[in-house]
Amino acid sequence: MPEWKGIVGKGFRADEFDEYVKTVKFDEWKPSFIVLHNTAIPTFADWHKHPGEERMRALERYYRDDNHWSAGPHLFVADDLIWVFTPLNVPGVHSPSWNRIAWGVELVGDYDKEPMSQEVRDNAIAALTSLHWIIGIDPRQIRLHREDTKTTHKHCPGLNMVKDDVINLVVAALTERPPLSVAAPISA
Ligand SMILES: [Zn+2]
Repeated sequence: MPEWKGIVGKGFRADEFDEYVKTVKFDEWKPSFIVLHNTAIPTFADWHKHPGEERMRALERYYRDDNHWSAGPHLFVADDLIWVFTPLNVPGVHSPSWNRIAWGVELVGDYDKEPMSQEVRDNAIAALTSLHWIIGIDPRQIRLHREDTKTTHKHCPGLNMVKDDVINLVVAALTERPPLSVAAPISA
């Protein structure tokens, strides 16, 4: 059984998340792009039936104890908070072809069946903007889970998540903020 990497398990408002990513040390691992997912279960309608902290602990049991994985996705984006699950500076487990090279970002909801609320969308764009900005990756490289030829999740992240729309919004948001200085070297 692989060693469980642990979780952060904390929820942040979008502005807090932007501050949080600045505190993460990307010495050991940095991804090349982001893979978008939807939780499907729970649906958005069901998400708030349990507090977010409880959701994080239940997800930890699911990935660690039921699936025997070493980690899960990195973020769960809800309407109120952006939840950090797997630490952002270690590879997660969410998309078989791309676990070593991509962050996994889950949007809370079943986007084959549910419309995406403005709040989830705003938090998703904010979180994706922070992530692309902090390590200087290109949002045009965003991929959908179902684009992974090795996945069995042929619908994730649902028809109501339009990749080009997400990319365009993140590209626009990134033009509003200057690139992070590249002066800080990656070193141990
Ligand atoms: Zn997925």
